[in-house]
Amino acid sequence: RIAVLGSANMDLVVTTQRAPERGETVTGHEFRTVPGGKGANQALAAARAGGDVTFLGAVGDDDFGRRIRDLLEADGIDVGELAVVAETTGTAHITVDDTGDNSIVVVPGANGCVTALTDPHRAAIRAADALLLQLELPLLVVAEAAAYAHSVGVRTVLTPAPAIPLAGSLLEQVDFLVPNEHEAMILTGADDPHQAGRELAERCAQVVVTLGAEGAVYLGSGRPALQVPAFPVEVLDTTAAGDTFVGVLAVGLAEGLEPEATLRRAAAASALSVQRFGASSSMPTRTEIDHFLSR
Ligand code: ADP
Repeated sequence: RIAVLGSANMDLVVTTQRAPERGETVTGHEFRTVPGGKGANQALAAARAGGDVTFLGAVGDDDFGRRIRDLLEADGIDVGELAVVAETTGTAHITVDDTGDNSIVVVPGANGCVTALTDPHRAAIRAADALLLQLELPLLVVAEAAAYAHSVGVRTVLTPAPAIPLAGSLLEQVDFLVPNEHEAMILTGADDPHQAGRELAERCAQVVVTLGAEGAVYLGSGRPALQVPAFPVEVLDTTAAGDTFVGVLAVGLAEGLEPEATLRRAAAASALSVQRFGASSSMPTRTEIDHFLSR
C-alpha cells in the first residue's frame, strides 16, 4: 500500500508565439486543461505501475475538482480522504511560447487548506508501506506527516519540489529524498549535482538525484554511489518524468525490491513517459514497464 499526501491541480496551459509584456494582450495558439499537481501525478504513476494507492489532499467544490477526483478514481486510487473544501481547486496558469520557454502562476487554493493531519490521514499512513510527500502543500503538514510516518515505522519518500532550504529535522525523518539536479543544488548551495547528492546523503538515509537524460545517482547509507542510467529514447515531452520516476520507485519499495531493481523500473517508466505528451496521459502501466524491460 502507498499513501500520497500532496497537491492536486488543474494545469491551464496556453501556447503562444511569445508571452505578453506587462499590460499587453497577445493572441495565443491553443488552450488546454490538464490535471496535474505533483501529489496527484505521483499517485497516478504508482497506481498505473500496480500500486494500491490512497490519495490524501483537497480540491474545491468545482468542476476542476470533480475532474481530478474522477481521473484518480478511474485508475483505482482510493479518494475517500480527498477533502472537498471551500476554496477553488488548485490551478497552475502556464504560458508556453514557441521557443518552449514557459512562465507559470500557481494558485494553491484548496491545497492550502491541508494544514494538519486528520485521524483518517493517520490511519491511511499507518496502513501504508510507503508515504509519498512533496512540497506543494503547506510545509507544516508535510513535516507533521513525515514525523508521524517515522514514529510508526512507515518509510517516507520526499520530492523536495518546489525547492526551498529545508530544516535538518525534516530531512532526518525522510527515508528517501528524490530531488532533481536543480533541487539538489538549491537544497545544498552546491554548484554540482553529484556534490549536492553527497551532502544530502549525510543528512538523509537514502538519496536519489535525478539527472534528466543523464539518468540518476543513488546514494545509500554507507554504500558506494550507484549510477542509474537513463534509457535512450526519443523525447517528446518530459512533463512529469520525475513524478513518474518517484511513483514507480514507491511501488518497488512497497513490494520489497532491492534499490537497484526498483530504480531500474523507475527509469524504464520515466523513459516511457517522456515519449508521450502530458502528465497523467504519459504514465505507463505495469505491463508496459515489464514489456519495455524485457525488450
Ligand atoms: P524532473 O522531471 O523532476 O525534472 P528529471 O528530468 O531528472 O526529473 O527526470 C527523472 C528521470 O526521468 C531521470 O532520472 C531519467 O530516468 C528519466 N528521464 C528524464 N529525461 C529523460 C530522457 N530525455 N530520456 C530518457 N529518460 C529520461
